[in-house]
Amino acid sequence: MEQLHATRALNRFDSRPTLVENPSEFAPPGPPVLARPRGLHYSDRMTRIGFGYDSHRLVEGRDLIIGGVRIEHELGLSGHSDGDAVLHAVTDALLGALAAGDIGQLFPDTDDRWKDADSSVFVAKAMGIATEAGYSVANCDVVIIAESPRLGPHREAIQRRIADLLGVEPGRVGVKAKSNERMGFVGRGEGIAAMAAVLLTAAGE
Ligand SMILES: [Zn+2]
Repeated sequence: MEQLHATRALNRFDSRPTLVENPSEFAPPGPPVLARPRGLHYSDRMTRIGFGYDSHRLVEGRDLIIGGVRIEHELGLSGHSDGDAVLHAVTDALLGALAAGDIGQLFPDTDDRWKDADSSVFVAKAMGIATEAGYSVANCDVVIIAESPRLGPHREAIQRRIADLLGVEPGRVGVKAKSNERMGFVGRGEGIAAMAAVLLTAAGE
């Protein structure tokens, strides 16, 4: 009705409501709609956001895999799988966006299939669920919290690997590495933590 009032106000010398070029300039969008702004695509599909967090212990005798990239270091991440906290956080962000549970439900650590597994299979499985539901990744943002090793030199490789797994170009994946200012378990070098946010949109939009 606001729409009607707006157009009537514009045409107060004419009692008939008329279509306006861009109604959103005059009234909030909402039914009934007499005209839509040009150039906007309307969809009843949701845009969905997801968030993930993970951490793993640094131990001797394990390879260090971060964001799907093997990094030379005297310690590696423990875990039932390869311990890649970054890909686990990305997986949980995808699953969270889809309200499809979490990585522990889909890949229980009691299942021998996932022992020492390459964590890219978890991302691939979550992407499969997203694709099935008609969604693709708009962008992803990752924070890695580690006291050592220094991750700056590996940032681009991690960005490219995550982008590959999500089926997007690297420009849609943000990767930031932080220390924890020597505070807490990360600061004492006992482990590495990661956080990830993922935005999904209806595929093809
Ligand atoms: Zn994990």
